Amino acid sequence: MRLVIFGPQGAGKGTQGKRIAEKWHIPAIATGDIFRDAIASESKLGREVKEIVESGQLVTDELTIELVKERLGQEDAVSGWLLDGFPRNTEQAQALDRLLTEEEGELDAALVLEVPEEVTMKRIMGRRVCSECGRNYHVDAPPQSDWSCDNCGGEVVQRPDDADEEAIRQRLKTYYEETEPLGEFYDDKGLLRRIVGVGSQNEVFQRIISAI
Ligand code: AMP
Repeated sequence: MRLVIFGPQGAGKGTQGKRIAEKWHIPAIATGDIFRDAIASESKLGREVKEIVESGQLVTDELTIELVKERLGQEDAVSGWLLDGFPRNTEQAQALDRLLTEEEGELDAALVLEVPEEVTMKRIMGRRVCSECGRNYHVDAPPQSDWSCDNCGGEVVQRPDDADEEAIRQRLKTYYEETEPLGEFYDDKGLLRRIVGVGSQNEVFQRIISAI
């Protein structure tokens, strides 16, 4: 199964992506997580992208495409994957198409999670994430004990780009300008599945299963 998932920040891509990955036994590959891990480990890539990521801008297509190509070539991605946060614009979607053609693979579906802007803003501001395993929480639904992850015991924190209102607005603006047009791109190919992203996590997941 080869899937991409997109939607505005705070639409639930990370949460649903992990569930999809579990159900279909494929890796959930989130480019945002790869960049954040690189920043945290202060690697060469991390130093290159730190400022861009923390201000809510997009990393260059060249760098991102190279990174995805490398990641999809790893062993755990041979029989499928879910891409979360990539492609982010038409240029990246075309690069993914070329990559699939080279490997004689096909995309099964492009899922778009649709959530109104006032809901996403609230979700992002309250979002907290485990610094170890990436599990998502919200200030209204925290881990059971004192901001340690229920899953792995890691520290649950706020992402720097979620703490900065200006950066959030920038990311949403970039989404509507650059990423939302991918709906048309994938609709033309007959791959687009629109998912209502409002409701409980289980409700949204059931809609995803039906759509796939
Ligand atoms: P996300 O976790 O998907 O919201 O991504 C966090 C940040 O990582 C974005 O605001 C960008 O700076 C960067 N990023 C993630 N995915 C991409 C991508 N496909 N292209 C360019 N930049 C990206």
